Amino acid sequence: MKKDVIIVGAGIGGLSCAALLAHGGHKVVVLEKNSYIGGACSSYKKQGYSFDRAVHLFTAGLNGPYGVILKRLGIDNLKFIKEINTRTAMKIYKREGYFPFDLNINQIFKLIKPQGVKKKGSAATKGTGAKLVMGGLKGMGFSSQTFKGLTSVMTNILTMSKKRLNKLYDEQLTVTQYLNQFTEDTFIHGIFAFLLAGMFSISPRKASAAEFIHCFKAEMTSKEGYQYPITGGAQAIPNAIAEGIIKYGGEIRTNSPVDKIVIKNDKVQGVMVGDDLIKAPIVVSNLTLKISVLNLIGRDYFDKKYLEKIESLRPSLSSMTFKLALKEPLIKDWGFINLYHPTLNDWKGKYGPGAPKSNGFFGPVLSNIDSSLAPPGCQTVIFGTVVPSKVANWNKWQEVYYADLLEFYPDLEKKLNFMDVSFPKDIAEATGKPAGPVEGLALTPAQTGKNKPSSVLPIEGLYVVGDTAGTDAHGIGTQLAADSGIKCADLILHRS
Ligand SMILES: Cc1cc2nc3c(=O)[nH]c(=O)nc-3n(C[C@H](O)[C@H](O)[C@H](O)COP(=O)(O)OP(=O)(O)OC[C@H]3O[C@@H](n4cnc5c(N)ncnc54)[C@H](O)[C@@H]3O)c2cc1C
Repeated sequence: MKKDVIIVGAGIGGLSCAALLAHGGHKVVVLEKNSYIGGACSSYKKQGYSFDRAVHLFTAGLNGPYGVILKRLGIDNLKFIKEINTRTAMKIYKREGYFPFDLNINQIFKLIKPQGVKKKGSAATKGTGAKLVMGGLKGMGFSSQTFKGLTSVMTNILTMSKKRLNKLYDEQLTVTQYLNQFTEDTFIHGIFAFLLAGMFSISPRKASAAEFIHCFKAEMTSKEGYQYPITGGAQAIPNAIAEGIIKYGGEIRTNSPVDKIVIKNDKVQGVMVGDDLIKAPIVVSNLTLKISVLNLIGRDYFDKKYLEKIESLRPSLSSMTFKLALKEPLIKDWGFINLYHPTLNDWKGKYGPGAPKSNGFFGPVLSNIDSSLAPPGCQTVIFGTVVPSKVANWNKWQEVYYADLLEFYPDLEKKLNFMDVSFPKDIAEATGKPAGPVEGLALTPAQTGKNKPSSVLPIEGLYVVGDTAGTDAHGIGTQLAADSGIKCADLILHRS
């Protein structure tokens, strides 16, 4: 008989680990503080519209870790719409003082990719193919200098061997340091800042070059690219994994906040929910590593060096989202659009010190992907943007960002039924992560790859899963959380 397991938290990491352990023969109970499952990857309904609590698009879909999990569980009820990359444009819209013209990122990479991946070296800068590429990019306003810089970066990324990528993890370069090896062109740095904002929610000055290349290469070489569940929004993903927990005899208890993880003689004993002790020899926490160690367990059980490491961990930036419930369609782009300025993390702009200078928006047009997410003839769009976790006056930030959206879409107010605005505190409420970050652990050189903290805690029977733990777990957001869940479950299955 396999040991009982308690999973604290029903985010993607916790659910993934729980389902695979239940499948592996463990008796599993998931304890979730909220009345719903999924944490940041959840959705809610209001007046016939359905919104994701965060703002989501999913790289790889079933070709990534969800596919691995659901295949092992024998569950096939999760389907994705796959053609988002081909049916829409990732656009950077023209904005005075920023990009001087509309950019279609997909088009740029499509032009460069076939040339760059042919072989090592600078194939992209030679021959007739290159002339065609240059013609296309010139049409978009590129100088030949920028073209050369961009093709040399892209060629290096797309032809990078696994060995070289591993070395890059060891070198601990940021994306800015990596790019500077090829070009200091601010336009190119701007494009990568745009990509980093959407992928890692941190500035290129902080992001790990190796992890970025790992994720970006997977995205660029995948035929299917960005995906979205066919029905039910982001909530469809935790729901599908939860079905696996139930199928293999596990239990999920919502409205069950865990107050404490109980330790005795350096072994985990179980958890406290209010006055009730629920016993189990294995506890897996889906809270952040920091909160698990410092709040749920307590400092007394760890040595100074471990505590220092835990205290040094930092999340990504947080987010503010505008959830638009529209009476009629505002945007015809299929899938998603980006309205972007390349100065991420620079808020001391035209509105004076401490006030926002908007960075741009990541905007899935959800009901254009799945029409069941809005009443007939209506539309839902979520515009998300990165923000610091704390600011002096959130009203001011909302005002500035909303004015920005109106500048892009002057018709917005005429078509608006209602709008929900969510702040970092709302994400904090949904996840228990105090800063309400996009990624629980910022993907910096010190916090990725081999440097990412282990899921195994130095106390017998205790583990942490999710986007904050798991050495060598990779990917972005939910994929990373699911990968961490798989790796942690396999470790426990191997040990028991
Ligand atoms: C605005 C925004 C946009 C994003 N966009 C994307 C995207 O496009 N693509 C993508 O893949 N990812 C995206 N992400 C990131 C992704 O949503 C997260 O990385 C991922 O969902 C985190 O999963 P997790 O397993 O770490 O758990 P979390 O989602 O953090 O869940 C933790 C769970 O633990 C529960 N919990 C907390 N405390 C307790 C307690 N004491 N007792 C019991 N339960 C507790 C919480 O209620 C929650 O259910 C985005 C995130 C945000 C905020």
